[in-house]
Amino acid sequence: MNLKGFSKLAVEHSFKPRNRGALEVFNGHSKITGPCGDTMEFWVQVKAGSLESLSFVTDGCHSSMACGSMTTVLAEGKSVSKALELTQQKVLDAFGEFSEESQHCALLAVNTLKSAIKDYMKNNIESGKNPSESPCASCTDKSCSAAKQRPNESDKDYEDRVKLQARMCRIKHKIVVMSGKGGVGKSTVAVNLATAYKLAGMRVGLLDVDIHGPSIPTMLDLEDARPLGGPAGIIPVDKDGMKVISLGFLLQHKDDAVIWRGPRKMGVIKQFLTDVEWGDLDYLIIDTPPGTGDEQLSLCQLIEDLEGAVIVTTPQRVATADVRKSVNFCKELKLPVIGVIENMSGFVCPKCGEITEVLSTGGGEQICKDMKVNFLGKIPMDPLVVQSCDSGKAFITEHSETPAAECMKEIIQAIGLKYD
Ligand code: ADP
Repeated sequence: MNLKGFSKLAVEHSFKPRNRGALEVFNGHSKITGPCGDTMEFWVQVKAGSLESLSFVTDGCHSSMACGSMTTVLAEGKSVSKALELTQQKVLDAFGEFSEESQHCALLAVNTLKSAIKDYMKNNIESGKNPSESPCASCTDKSCSAAKQRPNESDKDYEDRVKLQARMCRIKHKIVVMSGKGGVGKSTVAVNLATAYKLAGMRVGLLDVDIHGPSIPTMLDLEDARPLGGPAGIIPVDKDGMKVISLGFLLQHKDDAVIWRGPRKMGVIKQFLTDVEWGDLDYLIIDTPPGTGDEQLSLCQLIEDLEGAVIVTTPQRVATADVRKSVNFCKELKLPVIGVIENMSGFVCPKCGEITEVLSTGGGEQICKDMKVNFLGKIPMDPLVVQSCDSGKAFITEHSETPAAECMKEIIQAIGLKYD
């Protein structure tokens, strides 16, 4: 090996390679000959979703030896999904300096490793054995869509989908909260719904994908919260046992405006779903921006088993007209409509408790009849709701005896939760 252009570390790995030689016990294997004629061979032993051990051999030059060695070092002990994130550049960066004309060896090493991992994934999912070792760590379902690469799906897209599926299959129910218009109380409903589930002893996550106006951090008094990075991804912010993620956490200033086009939005939503350590959850409540745009579409495309949508409206005709669009959107995307909530339906007098109809009432109910979807109930206007939202406290726990809280509880029961 001509030592010129190689760091000391690269030279060391080429002369004293780590993890060289075939593994006796392995569950994934691959052998690839690169365009340069060098052959690389990798063995992996995956246990409980991580690369417990791996090894390689190559008939190639010293650069191939160094790259094979460094690739094993970087991947050892990592989760399958993390190991699949390894790139040629990461291997080269680990060396510091690596002669340009030999850099293709790093690509060959990384590709052979990934191919060995895929061999493991394929065998494991197809045979259904060793369920704890599957990429999802919980999935034995051979019909799982992540079990097979789709025709025309690139390796990268397939890897991404497996990673996403691995997170999503650990969450039993995913519910989207939608509205035709802004300001109708969609985030309020999302927060209170999530809180109700949490109080009922469920494991709950709350995801705010209202990219342009994230209000969940304010409503939960988490404006200064920042999620931390963990070994398996982003750790969601904890709110009394509820796992919360919002774009609001990532903005430098809460007044910053986000100007993103569709693909960028989809990218960040995908990241919220894939890279966040949601863990095992009973419910993930997802607050979306008003309307039926990129965010809702992305969610429907990314989460294959969305439970359904809760649509929030106010009673006046201009608002309910938009409910039709939301219902039609769900029908088009085959997303079940769990039901419609008519919020701000009547005003509760803070003095006598009497309910006065301010914005008219019954519009949401009527639309449900017309469109044959479930009507979940009405929530009256109550100044205490605003007070709770502004002070970062869930209304349903702070003012649980009020008529509005009683209505919320009935609605939550109608959604299918025994709340007391
Ligand atoms: P959206 O998510 O639809 O934009 P929000 O949940 O942010 O709406 O609610 C908008 C405002 O309306 C907030 O200040 C909230 O406190 C208030 N609000 C929501 N529901 C009620 C209600 N039933 N009574 C009084 N105020 C409400």
